[in-house]
Parts: sequence; C-alpha cells; structure tokens
Amino acid sequence: MSDGLAKLIDPWMMVVPVDGGERTQHFPPLVDMLRARVVPDGNQNGGGSAVNTRNVLDVKSLDLLEHIQNVTRAWLQEWRVTVAGELKLDLRGFWDHLHTLHRTEEIDQYMYERLAAYPDAWATSIWDLIEPPIRVSLRGLECTRCGNGKFTNENGDTVDNLIVVWRDGQEPTAECQVRECAAIWVSDTGLEELGNEAGLDIDIVALREARLARHAK
Ligand SMILES: [Zn+2]
Repeated sequence: MSDGLAKLIDPWMMVVPVDGGERTQHFPPLVDMLRARVVPDGNQNGGGSAVNTRNVLDVKSLDLLEHIQNVTRAWLQEWRVTVAGELKLDLRGFWDHLHTLHRTEEIDQYMYERLAAYPDAWATSIWDLIEPPIRVSLRGLECTRCGNGKFTNENGDTVDNLIVVWRDGQEPTAECQVRECAAIWVSDTGLEELGNEAGLDIDIVALREARLARHAK
C-alpha cells in the first residue's frame, strides 16, 4: 500500500514538533475526515440544516469527495470489478486490482504509474483542505507533462497552473493543478529539474522570500 492510500483508508498518525520535543497526533482515515467536512454533524443527528450551513470549504470538500468517488468507480467499472459503494472499500479494490493487472502485465507501465499515483495525490489534496499550505504561483511556466500553463479554478478564474507549495515540515514541491495530470516535483532539486525541463530558471531564493512574506501576514 502506498503511504497516501494507507492514510485514506486507515487511521494514521503524524509526529509534530512541540516546544522542546515532539508529540504523536492520531487521525482517522482521510476519507472519513473529508466526509465529515461535507456533512459536518454526520447523519446520525438527523439534522437537515447541514446543507444550508455549508461554507466555501465544504463545497471544495464535496467536489473533491465526488471526484475521488467518480474516478475510483469509473476504473472499477472499466475493469469489471464490483463496486462496493463504500469509498474506502472501493479505494482498496482499485489498488488491489491495479496491482493484479500490473503483475499479470495487463496494463502498461506508464498507465500503471499514473494510476498508482492517484491515492497519494488525493491524500495530499484532502490534507491541504484541512491544513492549507502556503502557495506561490510560477508565472509563465507550462507543465512539462501536460503542457498547461493556465488552470481554471473552482471559482471559474483562470490562474497560473504551476504552483510551488510549502506544507508544514515538508520539502517544497512544484505542482500541476490539472487533476488529470497532477505532476509533482519534490524539493529544491525537483524545482531545478522542472526549470531545466521547461528551459527556465526558477528563482528558488525569490520563492523562499515570497514564502516568508506570506508567512508574516
Ligand atoms: Zn500537468
């Protein structure tokens, strides 16, 4: 199982630094955390007001939840695997079948790698809704994988597609926001590689300064 898939379907934990030491924080499966944002109080209370009190974040959560469900189910159906209807089970089914196809060489290596990367990208997208990272856009640069320089966000605005993202306690990443592509370059080395592929210098120092400026706000 990939790290992303494990976090999506099983309880997980993270070690966070606290004054003079560290503490282990426990979390439920990310799929459950995402679902809780879509229906804040759960269905148990029978409260009908949840839809009315949805805020912008909840709409993003709903959109992401539906995207993960749709993609997972579409592949299971494509492979003629029974859809369980429960997302965590379906994700497990997606993963298991993908690896069976890979073992029996019924799927090519490119497709296999593309699909196997989905759970990690989804886990990251969910966590970003919960703990929004700092983002700086890479203006004028096209994704070297899908060719998109611009991206239309959930508000219908056209924005720079490639962004540099800093998540707490992690290396910076450059990310393509087009969901079907979701290309990712990790750490300063990755950013340099992206710059080389795109034939442009990425000014890591300037990006760090932009990051610090945002942090100060
Ligand atoms: Zn791309």
